[in-house]
Amino acid sequence: VKKDKGGAATANEVYVLDKDYAWVPARLIEQNGEKVRVSIPTYAEEAQILSDCGKGAKRWMEKEIHLKHYPGKTLPLQNIKNGSLNEKEDMVDLPYLHEAAILFNLKARHIQGLPYTRTGDIVIALNPYQWLDDLYSEKKQNRYSQKLVWESHDSDPRQEIAPHVYETSALSYKGLAADGQNQSILVSGESGAGKTETVKICMNHIASVQAGPGSKHKKANKVVQRVVESNPLLEAFGNAKTRRNDNSSRFGKYIQLQFDRGDASVGERIPPCMLAGSKCDVYLLEKTRIVQHDENERTYHIFYQILAAEDSDKAAIWSGLRGKRNQDFKYVGKCAPLNYDGHTDDQHYYNTVKSLELIDIKDEKLMTLMRAITVVMQLGNINTGPLHGDYDKSTVTNRNELDDLSELIGIPSNDMIHALTERTMTTRGEVFKVPLKPDQAKDSCDAFAKEIYSKLFLWLVREINDATCAEKNYSGQRQADFTTIGLLDIFGFESFPVNGFEQLCINYANEKLQQKFTRDIFQTVQEEYKFEGIRLDDIMYDNNTDVLDLIEGRGGLLAILNEECVRPKGSDREFVYKAKDTNKNSACLINDKLLGPMDFGIHHYAGKVVYFADGFLVRNQDAIAADLKEIAKKSSNDIIANHLDNDKSLNEENDTAARNMPPRRGKSGISNDTLWSKFKTQLNSLMKSLNETQSRYIRCIKPNTLKKPFILQHMTTVEQLRCAGVVAAVTISRSAFPNRLDHRACLERFKLLSKKKAKKSSKGDTKDEVTKMLERALRGMPSSDDGREPFVVGKTRVYFRAGALEFLESERMKG
Ligand code: ATP
Ligand code: MG
Repeated sequence: VKKDKGGAATANEVYVLDKDYAWVPARLIEQNGEKVRVSIPTYAEEAQILSDCGKGAKRWMEKEIHLKHYPGKTLPLQNIKNGSLNEKEDMVDLPYLHEAAILFNLKARHIQGLPYTRTGDIVIALNPYQWLDDLYSEKKQNRYSQKLVWESHDSDPRQEIAPHVYETSALSYKGLAADGQNQSILVSGESGAGKTETVKICMNHIASVQAGPGSKHKKANKVVQRVVESNPLLEAFGNAKTRRNDNSSRFGKYIQLQFDRGDASVGERIPPCMLAGSKCDVYLLEKTRIVQHDENERTYHIFYQILAAEDSDKAAIWSGLRGKRNQDFKYVGKCAPLNYDGHTDDQHYYNTVKSLELIDIKDEKLMTLMRAITVVMQLGNINTGPLHGDYDKSTVTNRNELDDLSELIGIPSNDMIHALTERTMTTRGEVFKVPLKPDQAKDSCDAFAKEIYSKLFLWLVREINDATCAEKNYSGQRQADFTTIGLLDIFGFESFPVNGFEQLCINYANEKLQQKFTRDIFQTVQEEYKFEGIRLDDIMYDNNTDVLDLIEGRGGLLAILNEECVRPKGSDREFVYKAKDTNKNSACLINDKLLGPMDFGIHHYAGKVVYFADGFLVRNQDAIAADLKEIAKKSSNDIIANHLDNDKSLNEENDTAARNMPPRRGKSGISNDTLWSKFKTQLNSLMKSLNETQSRYIRCIKPNTLKKPFILQHMTTVEQLRCAGVVAAVTISRSAFPNRLDHRACLERFKLLSKKKAKKSSKGDTKDEVTKMLERALRGMPSSDDGREPFVVGKTRVYFRAGALEFLESERMKG
């Protein structure tokens, strides 16, 4: 068996597109016009692939012929030849780089328990669904910091270490300490892919690198402890069990770790920067979950935590909590005990209390917080019904629950009834009360609960920021005095059978991030070519400005929705009609006959999504009735009385830009205070902040929906690769030159083709050697239409234009 160092596929080894398995590896047996005869090797693990293939397709699977049997293993096809595992740590080194090759490369690694793979500077992280202790040992952490931060190297030190998210964290730290530039790590992926865990892994690593080479007191530092402990706190209040993930983050977050500028006078090559604090910004907490959740899901963890606490601790919050169980509160509901992150709900409760204490939420303040959460729970128990048989009016039908609520919130029961069952209206200066129907009154309980909880969440984030931000620890200093590493953990692209307003916001954010991603990749490719000394001409890439225009441009969806929100007779249906009408020339808007009057579709970079506009206006307005706002001010609970008006997750009193903002009204007089407008402002400021950093990307992939180790499902993995823009990134990097090999591999592989044995140039110049060899070997290749060279030799690699490597391979087969 010939050694196959280059790892290039021989001409008859192919991947075949498959409707159930995305891609299957096959061997080409015969090509006869349209028909191709291929055979597929049998995989013990995936015997199913065989039984399903070949039906009704143009291809013809020859089932009898199995080249080899690989028990329990799926190998990337290019390795069938010698049967050795020859997958690549960096996918850029795959000679043929396309979706199928990426899929099988990831799979080959995943089944060996290797979750991380690079493609250039991007790290792809497959959720291992098992804790691989060796992978995160202190020794490992130190190795990555030594190699990538503290040692100096002539060539890329990553060649000596396996791909890991520690390289992303180490390189970010190095960029910060050595160049003084702000850094960011953008982690993306679908629910359950491992974003939050990855961010924590990176944060812990950064906290360990920061102490400098060989330091013994890594985690002793109080700042580090507070910063790291802010994670479980955010999770207690913002995470919940969903079908896809037992500990699913129901909000997006951007945490900036702040560092003091290293002291250059120490004389180190890289002046170590110390962690001085952190700041966290949060996005779009899922509000509906506060008042309802699907059967196998839960509301936010904190509710279950409180209810799982010791009776005496519960009674300290409110005497009525004694003996209460999950099923006693409608919003919470009965559910099987959950153990996530290795702890039960009651263990989590005491950890939450400890973490709160670290940021100075204890004693009365702690009780205020817990009581506010209990108010939310209690609001769910309020029942409404007709008032004296009149269904146009309503009242609370369970007086004892109302009295409990009244006691908890500190507002007299009768005042609560009025606020929940009536609406104050003003017409031509005249103020009057309109009664609410029982359903509407129930909705107003839900709206109040959602408002209290979501504002309480923001209050908590502000408290965390106040306790952790560097400005507090180094008084007199401002944000600009620190350098930062930002970590973004934000919801990935979503496409469900029915998509609503939340999906539109989420996918809009993903479009924004995708735009930055492609721009950054493009720039990296430019830099690579510059390094290799190759002229860069025609790189083409998909750019998504059209979609962004459709969403946020003039006359785009956001503008139309906002307009509809202030129009007295505005409606969801009218929004859809106008959106379609105004944008009928946009290629990104799907408006076919099959869509109903409440549906519209968008061609997102990651695929087509159809949205159902029901409730868009209400969700976008995101306002609670003035009556509820007013009554809240009377609450004896400080959080409810004083913090419902604050939309911010950061305390910005020091920020001159945020101060003295005029009441927000756009030029057209249209309110900018809608949820989407606020989100847009938040996103723009995030993008601005990211653009001032050097960004690195980690793409998390959920290899299977079973949450089990070692299994990789093809279809869902390929979809994620597309959504994460991995395939797009590869397309950009390979658009001018689809194939590449490094000099050595190229010489090894094709030296037989050149009749004259290439003379070792006296200087041992491989570049020269490769060039001469390839010129001879490619002499027989038909010249291209545009007369360009079929290959270009760079400083370390040979770049082949389309067809060139295939030609060489077929020549090699003949030989
Ligand atoms: P969501 O969008 O729902 O918040 P996520 O992408 O943040 O999802 P995580 O909560 O980070 O997903 O991960 C889901 C689960 O997968 C974790 O609770 C853990 O069990 C497992 N997991 C993730 N990353 C790792 C890892 N590196 N090692 C071991 N297990 C992991
Ligand atoms: Mg998460």
